[in-house]
Amino acid sequence: MVSNRPKNIAIDGPAGAGKSTVAKLVAKKLKMIYVDTGAMYRAMALFMLDEGISPDDREAVEENAIRADICIKYENGVQCIYLNGENVNDRIRSGEVSMAASKTSAFKAVRERMVALQKELAAKNDVVMDGRDIGTCVLPHAYLKVYMTAPVSVRAKRRYDENMAKGIKSDPEEIEKEIRDRDHRDMTREESPLRKAWDAVVLDTGNMTAEEASDRIVSWM
Ligand code: C5P
Repeated sequence: MVSNRPKNIAIDGPAGAGKSTVAKLVAKKLKMIYVDTGAMYRAMALFMLDEGISPDDREAVEENAIRADICIKYENGVQCIYLNGENVNDRIRSGEVSMAASKTSAFKAVRERMVALQKELAAKNDVVMDGRDIGTCVLPHAYLKVYMTAPVSVRAKRRYDENMAKGIKSDPEEIEKEIRDRDHRDMTREESPLRKAWDAVVLDTGNMTAEEASDRIVSWM
């Protein structure tokens, strides 16, 4: 019997492992839709910062999460993240938002809203979805699960190079510390911590280009 269920790919892993770059390439090669769930958590964090709500204040964040209308649209093949009607693609990539997202994403009310949205997208489309809890929580029946990782020094160097390419000066040591802090928070939180799903394939991208990593994933489909 031929199944009509979408053939989804779940990619999880720590910060800077190359998930989004590789996932985008895989989606292009397999004509699937790329869903960057980190961008959704970032938009939620940006909402709290804009509203003057501390990302550490669980009660206030959970109470106000309902006021953030977050949706994903695709414009000329590019994923655009909208927060209460505003395209916030350019505002969610700062260090401040990264840190805030790793705090607000630990709260149950935030995760419930985001996960419902993500499941809805994956039920309607063939998606390549990346994040921290995709294989373990959002898409437990994904066709393929990948746990992508790389040594922390490599991940920090990549982030540093990305910043340099954008003309943003940064301190390599500070970047590595920020990545370690975020990983620690993502892996030790109570709600859906970052973990390799039991049936995920590990892909260490430390010595790979994004092109090579995406070809490897395509070969597993
Ligand atoms: O992937 P990215 O670095 O953009 O994600 C930002 C933050 O959002 C992560 O540090 C993590 O705390 C959170 N996140 C999450 N679950 C996901 C995706 C991201 O908790 N599925």
